Amino acid sequence: MAKTTPTILWLRRDLRLSDHPAFCAAVARGGAVIPVFIRDDLVQTQGAAPKWRLGLSLADLQARLKDKGSGLVLRTGEALEVLRSLVRDTGAGAVYWSRAYDPDSIARDKHVKAALTEDGVDVQSHLGHLMFEPWTVETKTGGFYKVYTPMWKAVRDREVPEPLTTPGNIPAPETWPESETLEDWTLGADMDRGADVCLPHQLVGEEAAQGRLGHFVAHVIGDYNDKRDLPAVDGTSGLSASLALGEISPRQCWHAGQRALRDGGGKGAETWLQELVWREFAYHLAYHTPRITTGNWREEWDAFPWNEDEDRADVIAWKQGRTGEPFVDAAMREMYVTGRMHNRARMIVASYLTKHLLSHWKIGKRWFEEHLTDWDPASNAMGWQWAAGSGPDATPYFRVFNPETQLDKFDRDAAYRKAWIAERYAQPTDTALSYFKAIPKSWGMSPDTDYPDRIVGLKEGRQRALDAYEDRPF
Ligand SMILES: Cc1cc2nc3c(=O)[nH]c(=O)nc-3n(C[C@H](O)[C@H](O)[C@H](O)COP(=O)(O)OP(=O)(O)OC[C@H]3O[C@@H](n4cnc5c(N)ncnc54)[C@H](O)[C@@H]3O)c2cc1C
Repeated sequence: MAKTTPTILWLRRDLRLSDHPAFCAAVARGGAVIPVFIRDDLVQTQGAAPKWRLGLSLADLQARLKDKGSGLVLRTGEALEVLRSLVRDTGAGAVYWSRAYDPDSIARDKHVKAALTEDGVDVQSHLGHLMFEPWTVETKTGGFYKVYTPMWKAVRDREVPEPLTTPGNIPAPETWPESETLEDWTLGADMDRGADVCLPHQLVGEEAAQGRLGHFVAHVIGDYNDKRDLPAVDGTSGLSASLALGEISPRQCWHAGQRALRDGGGKGAETWLQELVWREFAYHLAYHTPRITTGNWREEWDAFPWNEDEDRADVIAWKQGRTGEPFVDAAMREMYVTGRMHNRARMIVASYLTKHLLSHWKIGKRWFEEHLTDWDPASNAMGWQWAAGSGPDATPYFRVFNPETQLDKFDRDAAYRKAWIAERYAQPTDTALSYFKAIPKSWGMSPDTDYPDRIVGLKEGRQRALDAYEDRPF
């Protein structure tokens, strides 16, 4: 009987071994499995922090695969060319991957699938990054959901298959194809001084993500409803980077949340399940209306006179965490040091940039793309357009978050301010001081200087935004 040819498993945002349908299908096919990661343009053009975080994840996966007698081949180049050369060199008869849903990945994958199929290769794409395929969730009239709540209602009782286990045996090829090395890739090169400061804040790899999920459902989820809006409290899962890179699967999270719900996790567990569906919603929007990642979802907003100058003094103050607005500055510094920012803080800094500073959400989206280790093309785009008012399910234009009253509600004991702003306190915290170790020296900031005055009065900024929205040309 002829030996089954090897299968190339092209890994992208699915950097795990468990609950991996494409991986299981590759093993089930019967031949050797050759896991591959390709550093193509979509990887090369990522921002500094996500690219660095990706490198950590790949190192972890490589070690896990090695432990199981397998490996991870690293190659640089255009995806189709790399896969064709691997097929040629290994005699592989199949290429499998997990589906991606952002417009750039879809365009690439369609092209690769068509060409390899034409070559006679068995090409399969599998579910893995989402729970619900975007084309399977439809409104009663046949369209896709543009508003979150009806989508939640449509999917909350759906059957989500139980997660798959890790393949027991991953058959290795007799000879491994040549691989580049992570050291040569220097994915952290653009991090400059920030990498050492940021590293202790990372939860890297599949095992760590599973451990965190277990801790979260055992100890945190019950209070999720009450604590998830408090930025200084460990009240959320902290799994966004793991989900963005696929170190954990959404259905592993879903089933853990469902179990917590059944075991008395109550409202907290239900709200957390809803958050997982916000992530699905973002990808459904990106799939059905790809323009959300590059332009105003509501196209009439193209006529709105946003400031588009990234180098304007107030925009620079926003980026550097020196607006004189403590909630905004704490949040921007938190992101610089940890690669993450609390969700409430993301809403506040996004509202402040687009409303108080009347600056384009694209400026903020780009800054987040550069600095978030949990950067995700769909959630980031949706989050910014939600805050700016240009998205499908957006906050109304007249809702301008007041960063001062938000502090009264969500940082009553000033713990968040203390954690991130050194200049305001006689004995600054280590985290607040670490910001000054991470930022470029050229910013000329020091913990010993006075905390800046507000760059814009809150009432004045709010009124300016409301006037601009009232006068909008549509
Ligand atoms: C302007 C802006 C930009 C954002 N950019 C990103 C981004 O690049 N990457 C990213 O993962 N999230 C983004 N979010 C969503 C949200 O802030 C983060 O997912 C959340 O803070 C992650 O923390 P957590 O893992 O502790 O979440 P939890 O509260 O524990 O929620 C569990 C998971 O649900 C998903 N989720 C939660 N809230 C949202 C949401 N509002 N939208 C979509 N998914 C959600 C995430 O995958 C998260 O890990 C953005 C939000 C805003 C307002």
